[in-house]
Amino acid sequence: MPIATVNPATGETLRTFDALSAEETEQRIAVAHATFLQYRTTEFSERARLLHRAADLLDKDQDDIARTMTTEMGKPVAAARAEAAKCAKAMRWYADNAAALLADEHPSAADAADSGASRVYTRYRPLGVVLAVMPWNFPLWQVVRFAAPTLMAGNAGLLKHASNVPQTALYLEDLFRRAGFPHGCFQTLLIGSRAVEAVLRDPRVVAATLTGSEPAGRSVAAVAGDEVKKTVLELGGSDPYIVMPSADIERAAATAVTARVQNNGQSCIAAKRFLVHTDVYDTFMEHFTTRMGALKVGDPLDESTDIGPLATEQGRTDLEELVADAVRLGATALCGGGRPTGQDRGWFFAPTVLMGITTDMRIHHEEAFGPVASIYRVTSAAEAVELANDTPFGLSSNVWTRDEEEVDLFARDLEAGGVFFNGMTASHPALPFGGIKRSGYGRELSGHGIREFCNITTVWHGAEPGE
Ligand code: NAP
Repeated sequence: MPIATVNPATGETLRTFDALSAEETEQRIAVAHATFLQYRTTEFSERARLLHRAADLLDKDQDDIARTMTTEMGKPVAAARAEAAKCAKAMRWYADNAAALLADEHPSAADAADSGASRVYTRYRPLGVVLAVMPWNFPLWQVVRFAAPTLMAGNAGLLKHASNVPQTALYLEDLFRRAGFPHGCFQTLLIGSRAVEAVLRDPRVVAATLTGSEPAGRSVAAVAGDEVKKTVLELGGSDPYIVMPSADIERAAATAVTARVQNNGQSCIAAKRFLVHTDVYDTFMEHFTTRMGALKVGDPLDESTDIGPLATEQGRTDLEELVADAVRLGATALCGGGRPTGQDRGWFFAPTVLMGITTDMRIHHEEAFGPVASIYRVTSAAEAVELANDTPFGLSSNVWTRDEEEVDLFARDLEAGGVFFNGMTASHPALPFGGIKRSGYGRELSGHGIREFCNITTVWHGAEPGE
C-alpha cells in the first residue's frame, strides 16, 4: 500500500510520502536505543511533567488534528475531536498514576522470610525500544494508549502506523517532541508493512505491540516468536450484543445503533452480532431498524453527519462481498445493503440490518468492518451464550438484562476479554482492554497495560549471618 493521504470521502489523493530507506530506518532505531539508555534512568515525576505537557498541547491542537484524521480515514469530525480529547485524558491518567502502578511490590513478611531473604521485592524496570504497529481506525487513540504507558514506564517507542494515516503518524512524533521528550523517545517510521520484519529482528528492538487484523498479527507474532521477543496483539472482533426480555428495550436499541455504527462501523469493539430474545424481538427490531435507517450518511467534515465513508476502497469491497454472500445464502437486508444512493464519489456504505443469518454464511464467522448488523433470534440465555461463543473472536461482549441470575451466567460463560451489561463496550484508561481467542493476547490500558513492557525483576537480598 502506498504511504499516502487519500480522502475516503472523495477518493482523491491529497499527499504522498516516500518510505524511509533501510538505512534511514536503521538510524532511527539507533537513536531510539541511545535515547532509551539515558531516558530509562529518569524519574517518574519528570516523565509525568512531559506527558502532561503533551496532553495540554493535544488539547490546543484538537480541531486541527481532528480534521486531519477525518480527511485521512473518514470518521465524523465530532468523533475525531472526541478521540483527541480521550487521548489527552489517557495521557494525564498515566502521568498521574504510573508511579503507583509501577511501585515496588513486597511479598508478605512470612513469604519473604521463607524465601531466605532479609529484603525482597519486585521492581518494574523498563524493557527497551518497543515497536508499535498500528491501524488507521482510531489513528490517535490506538497509538496513545501504547505511547502513554510506554513513555511513563521509561521505554522508547517506534511507531509504524497504517500507510493511509501518515499525517496523523507524523503529528504524533511532533507532539511528543514539542512536549519536550528527548528526541528518540518516540519516533514515527514511515515504512510499509514489508519493512516491519527487519525492524523487529533488530536486536535493539526488544518487543512489539500490534493492533490490526489477524493476518498482520500472525505475521508479526511469527517473527517475534522466532526472535523470542514479547508481543501484545489486539486483533479483530465480532462482539455479541445480547438483548434479554428483562432489558429496557428502547434504550438497548438506541445504544445498539451507536455500538454498531460508531467510527463508521469500523471499530474492533463494535457490536456486530445482535442476539435478541424472541419475546422482545419484534419491539427491539422495530426501534433498531428505524434508527439505523434514519442515520445521515455523508461528508464526515459536516457536523451533522452520522456516518462517513469507509476508510479504504478495499474495505468497502470486502464488506460488499460479505453482505452479498449472506444475501445469496438467504439473509434479508431490512435496510441498506450496499452503497447509498446519491453518493457517487467516495467509499460510502449504507447502514445495514441483516436478518436471517445462518452459520454457513461468511458473516457468521468473519468480522464485518463497516455499518452492518447481523441479527439472530434466540429463545434462551443458554442459546445466546452458545451462539455468542460460536466465533473465532473473543474481544468483548454486551448483554442487556436486569435478571441477576442471567448476569451471573453471562459473566461466567461468555468467551471474551470484556462483558459489558446494560451499556456498550468502551475503553477507559483505568480498565484493562484486550481479547482472547483470535482477538489476540495481552492487555492494554490500566496497570496491566503498563506492565506488559516492563522487566518484572525480583530483587532479593540474602540475610547476613546473625541477622
Ligand atoms: P491491518 O491491515 O492489519 O493493518 C494494521 C497495521 O498492520 C498497519 O500498520 C499495517 O500496515 C500493518 N500490517 C499489515 N500487514 C502486516 C504484516 N504482514 N506485517 C507487519 N505489519 C503489517 O488492519 P487495519 O485494516 O488497519 O485495521 C483493521 C483491523 O484492526 C480490524 O480487524 C480491527 O478489528 C482491528 N483492530 C483491533 C483493535 C483491538 O484493540 N483489538 C483495535 C482497532 C482495530 P500497512 O497499513 O502499511 O499495511
